[in-house]
Amino acid sequence: MPTYTKSESLFQEANQYIPGGVNSPVRAFKSVGRTPLYIDHGTDGHVFDVDGNEYIDFISSWGPLILGHANPLIQDAIRKEVEKGTSYGACNEHEVEMARMICNFFPSVDKVRMVNSGTEATMSAVRLARGFTGRDKIIKFDGCYHGHADMFLIKAGSGLATYGESGSAGVTKGTAEDTLVATYNDISSVKKLIQAFPHQIAAVILEPVMGNMGLIMPREGFLQELRELTSEHNILLIFDEVISGFRAAKGGVQELFGISPDLTCLGKIIGGGLPVGAFGGRADIMDHLSPNGRVYQAGTLSGNPLAMVAGIAMLRQLESPGFYDELEAVGARFEALVQEAIVPYGDKLSFNRCGSLCTLFFKSGGVICNDDAKKSDTNLYARYFQLMLDQGVYLPPSQFECMFLSAAHTDEDLQRTVEAMSTALAKVLA
Ligand SMILES: *Cc1c(COP(=O)(O)O)cnc(C)c1O
Repeated sequence: MPTYTKSESLFQEANQYIPGGVNSPVRAFKSVGRTPLYIDHGTDGHVFDVDGNEYIDFISSWGPLILGHANPLIQDAIRKEVEKGTSYGACNEHEVEMARMICNFFPSVDKVRMVNSGTEATMSAVRLARGFTGRDKIIKFDGCYHGHADMFLIKAGSGLATYGESGSAGVTKGTAEDTLVATYNDISSVKKLIQAFPHQIAAVILEPVMGNMGLIMPREGFLQELRELTSEHNILLIFDEVISGFRAAKGGVQELFGISPDLTCLGKIIGGGLPVGAFGGRADIMDHLSPNGRVYQAGTLSGNPLAMVAGIAMLRQLESPGFYDELEAVGARFEALVQEAIVPYGDKLSFNRCGSLCTLFFKSGGVICNDDAKKSDTNLYARYFQLMLDQGVYLPPSQFECMFLSAAHTDEDLQRTVEAMSTALAKVLA
């Protein structure tokens, strides 16, 4: 059995100085009955904690590390740039290249602005949508997470679902009133809101493939219907592809389903592991941003040269021919192994996958919306998580988070993971 003494004592000290001991709630292991790991370093698909334990890592920093840990080309790019300086609060050539690359990956994006996190991206995209349409309200979907800005903390997925809060304290009534909540995969729930608030809705924002209640796929036609409906009512359609961008497919869910949103939010992968976000879309909308237009948006460290070179080094590798075929092969191989391992428990589990994202739900009969996901047995997940951790597999510490596969996961990693899974499931579901 591995020991976790150094992590445990660090967590104890952390609790003295940091609320809950963590700088982001999803890192706490509260819902799975453990104390969090303190990670010392990572290589490829593995991380090593401060006690010297090695794990096959399926968190991948919650998405960014699609090439695995300590990618040499990203490290070289950062090293080279850091020699020159770290930040200038002025224009730099890398941000231009980054913008060009993002526009190439996402044909719906004519222009893009860099920010420092996914939260900033979604928050700014909604402000822009409001400024552009002159309307106040937005529609979001139950279970979709768009970062921690006030207006999104309503039925907002994993972090909140894991800790049983219906929303967050500290959000004003006025803000909450402008956020309308629809049901994912249910177009009639959107129609009803549009009818109830005619000409008041600026934007519909969603994770086109849901990644923050575990992985949930759109049903056939749902995204297309949403595109038609929003166009008909002059409502902007915002795809939050902070997780799904560069993961569901090279050009995100919009490429996979052939849908052109008005605005797209990105983050995670485009920073190569450094803090970054971006939002972009139609030029006529984006030109409403200051200094061209009247919608204000800014950032001291936006387009930071270190983050830009890291992101560029990442995107260049994703552009290399065959990369997405190989990544899909990793995902498909893992799915095949998992499906085989869960045959004996077919009536107790559901497995969803899209590209390099997947979730094993402790729920029978499939998961297509937030209400389904919430029926999962989180106690079983907690036991499963612990048994996996003790066998050297680091899963998300919540039933409602995706597993993030990376191109650095080897076939041996996948096989060892599924062997551990078989052992754990036999104990948990016996
Ligand atoms: C992670 C995430 C965000 C927020 O990004 P941060 O960088 O954590 O602020 C927004 N939207 C989605 C879909 C995310 O998964």
